[in-house]
Amino acid sequence: MNWHEENIRLTKELISKKSYSGKEKDVIDCLRNFFENSGFDEVIIDKYGSCIGGIVGKRDDGKNITTLFDGHVDTVVVNEEKWSFPPFVATEHNGRIYGRGSSDMKGALSSMAVATLKFAKETDKDFSGKIYVSGSVFEEVFEGVAPRSVSEIVNPDFVIIGEASELNLKIGQRGRAEIVVETFGVSAHSANPEKGVNAVLLMNDVIREIENIVPNEQEKLGKGILVLTDIISSPYPGSSVIPSSCRATYDRRLLVGETPESVLEPIQNVLSKLKEEKGIEAKVSLAEDSKLCYTGEEISSSRFFPGWLYDENEKLIQKAYNGLKNSGLDPEITNYSFCTNGSHYAGEKGILTIGFGPSHESLAHIDDEYVEIEQLKKAFDGYYEILREIYK
Ligand SMILES: [Zn+2]
Repeated sequence: MNWHEENIRLTKELISKKSYSGKEKDVIDCLRNFFENSGFDEVIIDKYGSCIGGIVGKRDDGKNITTLFDGHVDTVVVNEEKWSFPPFVATEHNGRIYGRGSSDMKGALSSMAVATLKFAKETDKDFSGKIYVSGSVFEEVFEGVAPRSVSEIVNPDFVIIGEASELNLKIGQRGRAEIVVETFGVSAHSANPEKGVNAVLLMNDVIREIENIVPNEQEKLGKGILVLTDIISSPYPGSSVIPSSCRATYDRRLLVGETPESVLEPIQNVLSKLKEEKGIEAKVSLAEDSKLCYTGEEISSSRFFPGWLYDENEKLIQKAYNGLKNSGLDPEITNYSFCTNGSHYAGEKGILTIGFGPSHESLAHIDDEYVEIEQLKKAFDGYYEILREIYK
């Protein structure tokens, strides 16, 4: 078997299956076929529709480590007119494969799946433990929510997130929360504004006060950002009416250890002060969202996805690092600057997690997204060598 060619073939096949969040069925069918026809021992589709393939080691020496590779299969939408190559064809050009999801992150998912298969074949499954690969759904909407069901099924000791890391080793990330602030006024005809209380003007006071909140900072993860991202009044559009309510959304980047309570508290304090001083009626909460999976199951969560960070001296992290070195890479040990499914595995469940993947994060979500074939090859070799070190 030419593993690199097989990896390129599978990457292209995954790209050719359009898979916007909640509409991943075609790409999941493709992944399931791959697992079933290539010799994976277990193939599971969970309630949200994520597809998990597993290889079971035959050796019984008590080590028994369960490793999980996680790669999301959903992508953000395309604006097809802006693309030079058709986004769901996987065109090869100048050493690159173009297509939606090539960098984020079907190339990584394919590399993890094919590397796991190679490891199973080369060792004849003579290792202690299990290796799972999950093609997870709905990551682009809810980081780390579909994985709640994956970790329930797989119960891993070690998780490898394949999000683009430029072949570096990631040991943490900031999390994120979406915070909703609402103000409540009194509606009136705009010909007689004095009869109402304008909720937008109340929000004006609230926003000024929230601007004074300075979130925490942590040495490795940086600043816990708090930034206003949208605002809307109600009714909207308002014709000849004083708005009775107003809603603003804040994006909050989370550091390790921050909780919904600790993040909402300083804002609640601002609102309590404004209520006391000016009688402003307002409330703060986490945004909630709910969507339908292609399986018919509802997926819902409040938008709070925790940050995480591990010590690079953890034994399995050192093994992964040595594996990457053995594959010929010289990875830097750093953190992701964006939010990943690690928010669940590491942030919520406390499972040792790293990130390692092909390509550059700046290539995600863009028109003419591509992955370099050279990066795919190196990521594939990296995943394979990580497994060799873990199960040595
Ligand atoms: Zn991604």
